[in-house]
Amino acid sequence: MKIAMIGSGYVGLVSGACFADFGHVVACVDKDPDKIAALEAGRIPIFEPGLDTLVADNVRQGRLTFSTNLPQAVAGADAVFIAVGTPSRRGDGFADLSYVHAAAREIGQALTGYAVVVTKSTVPVGTGDEVERIIREVRPEAEVAVVSNPEFLREGAAIADFKRPDRIVIGAEGAREAEVMREIYRPLYLNQAPILVTGRRTAELTKYAANAFLATKITFINEIADLCEQVGANVQEVARGIGLDNRIGAKFLHAGPGYGGSCFPKDILALVKTAQDAGTPVRLVETVVAVNESRKRAMARKVIQACGGSVRGKTIAILGLTFKPNTDDMRDAPSLAIIAGLQDGGARIRAYDPEGMDQARPLLPDITYAEDAYACAEGADALVIVTEWNAFRALDLARLGAVMASRILVDLRNVYRPETVTRHGFHYVGIGVQGLTEPGAG
Ligand code: NAD
Repeated sequence: MKIAMIGSGYVGLVSGACFADFGHVVACVDKDPDKIAALEAGRIPIFEPGLDTLVADNVRQGRLTFSTNLPQAVAGADAVFIAVGTPSRRGDGFADLSYVHAAAREIGQALTGYAVVVTKSTVPVGTGDEVERIIREVRPEAEVAVVSNPEFLREGAAIADFKRPDRIVIGAEGAREAEVMREIYRPLYLNQAPILVTGRRTAELTKYAANAFLATKITFINEIADLCEQVGANVQEVARGIGLDNRIGAKFLHAGPGYGGSCFPKDILALVKTAQDAGTPVRLVETVVAVNESRKRAMARKVIQACGGSVRGKTIAILGLTFKPNTDDMRDAPSLAIIAGLQDGGARIRAYDPEGMDQARPLLPDITYAEDAYACAEGADALVIVTEWNAFRALDLARLGAVMASRILVDLRNVYRPETVTRHGFHYVGIGVQGLTEPGAG
């Protein structure tokens, strides 16, 4: 199959490289010439484990190319995937579909024969109808079918998720386009990945419903964590106690500083808006948004409280800036709100992140960046773990304590056992667990 991938960001690049690895011939297009120049020079513009090798292998074998020339990539393609961004629209939180619509227009102009246009971007219900309308407007004679194929990959585990997905959802209105999609995913079907063929609108909504459900699960355990702190219970044990119930499941029950990232915040807001417009508000999801929003600020207050009620003039060391480990993505990372809250309280911020600092610099210009966790902790009045990178899981606590001004560890990911940390003379504050200070510790 010949595939054109429009948009070569996290989703477009991973999907394009994986499709090429299945044996298809893929042209990845992006309108950002710097991104394409980097890819052509063998540099991967994002951090995603394993992606560099996968891209290099498929480029070498002639199945994967990069270009800014959309018409050339689209001409003769069996399938054209739209994988451009759908950020929140300024002002109302609805999905900004301008990139999707612009891509549809360009694709319409470039189509040569029968092609399936596939929306892989996360888009609100009815967007497929609009994509089809735009294409027919610019090319009334085009032989085209528009399909929805939402992507469920997670940054940090994107290649494994793409190649071993829990399911593939295809929203197709006709048999011919459904068959093309089955052919594209055939290598995965052999791996027994379930392919769910639905109507187009159903597929579009499935993606939002999945993200809203996951965000609800996270927010639920976060509220239970707050309750645990008040009543002397342990959220990790509660999570295990409920997660072993097959009807609940253990995943997405890790209490933390609130969800963030490139997808959940914007997608859940877009679902809320869609539901309001449809006259059937999703009140549970609206509450999830509100609870999560207030939580990020509350995390700054938690740090301030751990520091004795004020951080004015104090230095706070932040470990982890990205919204989760194994990505350099800083979009809507909880660290942004937490750091802003601490700076509002008068704190100086030192920070370290293994991969996210380049992306963080323009968003957080007024902080000091350190070269590793120990340099970050130097002179700090408190150390805060915001993202659970593996590099932070086995820190030398004695070495950290020796360079800090005072030994306070606020562990927003519950990476450490309180007893281990307090043995090194730290005051420990976790999420949904009892804070611990070793008697006599300073
Ligand atoms: P991204 O911002 O990393 O990449 C989008 C790319 O599209 C950019 O490089 C941009 O330059 C390019 N682009 C925009 N308009 C274009 C056009 N007309 N022609 C060519 N290129 C164009 O975004 P992303 O994180 O890859 O997300 C893409 C979509 O996939 C979004 O709808 C997102 O919600 C969804 N999604 C993302 C993830 C994820 O983990 N990042 C997971 C599942 C779904």
